[in-house]
Amino acid sequence: MLKHVWETDPEVAQAIYDETERQEHTLEMIASENMVSEAVLEAQGSILTNKYAEGYPGRRYYGGCENVDVIENLARQRACAIFGADHANVQPHSGSQANMAAYYSVAKHGDTILGLSLAHGGHLTHGHKVNFSGSHFNVIQYGLDRETERIDYEEMRRLALEYKPRVLLAGSSAYPREIDFAPFRAVADEIGAIFMVDMAHFAGLVAAGLHQNPVPLADIVTTTTHKTLRGPRGGMILCKESLAKAVDKIVFPGYQGGPLEHVIAAKAVALKEAQQDSFKEYQRHIVENARALAKVLADGGARLISGGTDTHLILVDVTPLGLTGRDAENALHNAGITVNKNAIPYDTNPPAVASGIRMGTPALTSRGMGVKEMEKIGGWILDILKAPQDEQLAKKVLGAVKEMCLEFPKYASHLESDKK
Ligand code: PLP
Repeated sequence: MLKHVWETDPEVAQAIYDETERQEHTLEMIASENMVSEAVLEAQGSILTNKYAEGYPGRRYYGGCENVDVIENLARQRACAIFGADHANVQPHSGSQANMAAYYSVAKHGDTILGLSLAHGGHLTHGHKVNFSGSHFNVIQYGLDRETERIDYEEMRRLALEYKPRVLLAGSSAYPREIDFAPFRAVADEIGAIFMVDMAHFAGLVAAGLHQNPVPLADIVTTTTHKTLRGPRGGMILCKESLAKAVDKIVFPGYQGGPLEHVIAAKAVALKEAQQDSFKEYQRHIVENARALAKVLADGGARLISGGTDTHLILVDVTPLGLTGRDAENALHNAGITVNKNAIPYDTNPPAVASGIRMGTPALTSRGMGVKEMEKIGGWILDILKAPQDEQLAKKVLGAVKEMCLEFPKYASHLESDKK
């Protein structure tokens, strides 16, 4: 597949090859990442990248859109069927763009938004001051209960009644528990707010019926397509029919120009995959694996935020081990295990250091790894975190990681066919 890149640009070809090797031979445990199918890769790498298609199927500003219309309609129909939505816009280039468009389809500059703070597991686009969401809107943030480390629904209601936000937002990037959308809907009704959900992290679980579906309750739902949903990098907005026109208008011509039809084709393919029974099975394994990993870590003395997980994601407080999140991320990286440092609720370290690490099971599960592997990996993680300076140990684990990866190949054929 890299034949022509090797010819045209060997430096880029080499880096792609090295990255394939890294993904293939190390444990990818970043909770927001996954490993897509060959079909998704092919669709995204197709000649659709050549096509301009401003507008929507049947209403384009360019000629020659008959084929991309078929593709975009399939993506929209499948998204609506999977999540039970009235309307889907599959054009947002990313999750952040989906959130920006969603906000502006229901609110205006300066309106009040109430969302989960980044420090407690929300996303930058949920109102952080360095992000557009924090500077364009008047942001109020709720957090997690200090004791249970679960969403403080009472605090959310209290803040909502006090500040009367235009948009009440649920959704998270680093929250290991299932979110209950009913209290949000009730509060939104009480104050006349729009209820928006960003289900980026757990959309795959929703598709498989393993997480409460926000679509019936929320006015507008955003997601990325590349996390548990296992599609290409991108975003998507689902909404009630009453908001369909506003959403479409703000995505194009409001914030974006030509849609990325090659990415939309890959979204369509991923959504078709998500309609299969095998996808439901895959999502069940993601959750089973996360629970197994959480148990090993907790039994081994790690402190898990909220005591465990209901989802694909685990957040570990590494301070009882005398580490910062940054130290833990680096130590695991040296052993071939990729995670990210992450703030924990009420963190006293700055975000670039952090007191926790976030990890997830979607990518490992895509390789076919199961509970047995999670138990081994959990043991390695504990060993490394308890002796982060031990270079011999890191080397030993790195070797064992590679051995395990060879047993569960994902892109091994690329390593063969993409050679120089
Ligand atoms: N929303 C949530 C909950 C996320 O976790 C993320 C990304 O991590 C985003 C939105 C943004 O997605 P993107 O990186 O595609 O802009």
